[in-house]
Amino acid sequence: MTDETEADLTGATPRRRAKAPVEKVGGRKLRPATMMMGHGYDPMLSEGSLKPPIFLTSTFVFPNAAAGKRHFEGVTGKRPGGADGLVYSRFNGPNQEILEDRLAVWEEAEDALAFSSGMSAIATLFLSMVKPGDTIVHSGPLYAATETLIARILGRFGVHWLDFPAGATREEIDAVLSKAATGNVALIYLESPANPTNALVDVEAVAASRDAIFTGANKPPIAIDNTFLGPIWAQPLKQGADIVVYSLTKYAGGHSDLVAGGVLGSKEHINTIRLMRNTIGTICDPNTAWMLLRSLETLELRMSRAGENAAKVCAFLKDHPKVEKVGYLGFLEGGDDARQADIYRRHCIGAGSTFSLYLKGGETEAFAFLDALKIAKLAVSLGGTETLASHPAGMTHLSVPEARKKALGITDNLVRISIGVEDADDLVADFEEALRAV
Ligand SMILES: *Cc1c(COP(=O)(O)O)cnc(C)c1O
Repeated sequence: MTDETEADLTGATPRRRAKAPVEKVGGRKLRPATMMMGHGYDPMLSEGSLKPPIFLTSTFVFPNAAAGKRHFEGVTGKRPGGADGLVYSRFNGPNQEILEDRLAVWEEAEDALAFSSGMSAIATLFLSMVKPGDTIVHSGPLYAATETLIARILGRFGVHWLDFPAGATREEIDAVLSKAATGNVALIYLESPANPTNALVDVEAVAASRDAIFTGANKPPIAIDNTFLGPIWAQPLKQGADIVVYSLTKYAGGHSDLVAGGVLGSKEHINTIRLMRNTIGTICDPNTAWMLLRSLETLELRMSRAGENAAKVCAFLKDHPKVEKVGYLGFLEGGDDARQADIYRRHCIGAGSTFSLYLKGGETEAFAFLDALKIAKLAVSLGGTETLASHPAGMTHLSVPEARKKALGITDNLVRISIGVEDADDLVADFEEALRAV
């Protein structure tokens, strides 16, 4: 059924969606990079405007009273699937809906939701799934705010947690899940690669362990924060994850000029999360959604260039006499790294452009290096067009207790680098000069 007939039946406000989305040409399934230029938007519904207008409105006019009632049945969850049409901008809007359609395309997810930040996406996911007494089992370490949310905030409401290290084996995962299974496990939450260790989680092993230990309605969904590698370098739905979470602030937004989040997954899970988003209003605004549509048009270009640049920069840094070690996924091999290398081969399409640089020395050497950089900017965050460098021990992880810092390898000589889309040889020159200053 096309949206046009749907609109006739329900009296829904016309959507920006294309009446018949072009997903195939001559039997060839179109690649996401192609679909980003038009999917989910029909210019003829907007005066022929090639690009979607930004719909700055707080509310939408119903064609008749029955249509209004039907919309609210969807919004309130009386009928699954959300609103049939546009109702009120806390629930949805044309720009956000086009964005959600396009986000889903990258990972062949059934549905997607856009949020005002990565953290509001994660918080909405948690709130939609947990109740007092439940346990969240998670890989560790997680993004610091996510750890705070689970342990300190949800903990206040009687939610428990158990964790396993990101690089855990099937046996170690089994042990933690079996222990957790004595209570009700609401969610298994992963982050891969872990920040700042870059340790990869074996999603296939987590899914196999979950399926062996839990049955039927007790089976918790597996959600994973795919911000560092997705969707170009890793697609964890293919390894058995049910829900993928993004800080779209990073690679997806890609220009360090917005804050947003996303969640992808099956219609069933997305409907549960949407109901919570409708209630608490964590949707992103239309302007941000529009900027993200522009970003997605160049996502593959930007990420592949950044990935190529990182490979060149890391190859230069690897054997430099002032460098102790480069923690870059592309360098995983045998020895101590054999298990991580195996996960990398099974789960990843590329090594990304964010890595850890361990200099010989300590804070003095790290600071001398950071202060001497001319092209790379000294800032936290990642995934933008520009190269960024930061010092986790003194910045993002400053408040982490010493013992835990040590366990995570957050040492004073560690510099985190996110490579952008500049000219690779210019970047190498910048790092070479900065190392000279150490
Ligand atoms: C940045 C980040 C977040 C939080 O996203 P915001 O958009 O800043 O709210 C969550 N997870 C990871 C891995 C991140 O890098």
